Amino acid sequence: MDCFMLLLLMATLQAVTILTSGAVREASVLGYYITPLFSYYSYHGPVFRVMLRVNRGKLLENRHYGFITYCNNCGNSQEFSWAELGQISCSCSGSHGSRSLVISGPLWTGPLHSAAYISKMINLAEEWGWIGNGAETDLEKLLKQMLDESDPRLKSGYIKMDEVASRAKINSPPLRTMMSAMQKEGYATSRSHIASNAIKTDCPMSVCIRISKELQGVDSFSV
Ligand SMILES: [Zn+2]
Repeated sequence: MDCFMLLLLMATLQAVTILTSGAVREASVLGYYITPLFSYYSYHGPVFRVMLRVNRGKLLENRHYGFITYCNNCGNSQEFSWAELGQISCSCSGSHGSRSLVISGPLWTGPLHSAAYISKMINLAEEWGWIGNGAETDLEKLLKQMLDESDPRLKSGYIKMDEVASRAKINSPPLRTMMSAMQKEGYATSRSHIASNAIKTDCPMSVCIRISKELQGVDSFSV
């Protein structure tokens, strides 16, 4: 039988991934594995809630348990597994080497929602008449956003549009326009229910900067 765990904490997105990774580690020692069903950020607090499912057995691989880097030089974020720990670097490196990298982990790098579980929540909310009555309620918007966020192609965390605009030295293009331009180039995108002016994506920062400049009619090669 499945067992569920609801964890609460007051902290940042990174803290929720550390908390989840702590639960992954503890469960593994006891012969279980855990998977997140959904997580919810409430800015009243702020509080993060994570619902985890505890399953008997062991995960065959630890692909969602690793390290995340952020490069202060180029703004790119990357994920590294335990096996890649000795090879952490950023493609922009050059003379900066790894000194510009901030490494976080070990932490949970996988999705913070299960798409199947969110779909069940949507169906139940419809059945109870909480959503689907024509007028799109806040709950409906939130559940749809969570479903988008559970796309397994999306990387951990999000890219803030303010940072893209600041690095590109332009005014930020509208979020929707930016997301559709990124999708046209084959990248996965979703809004984030945690930060309003941010995008969850698998698109590197350098490409985000180039796309945003193109949208604003600025030559990518000019400084
Ligand atoms: Zn870099």
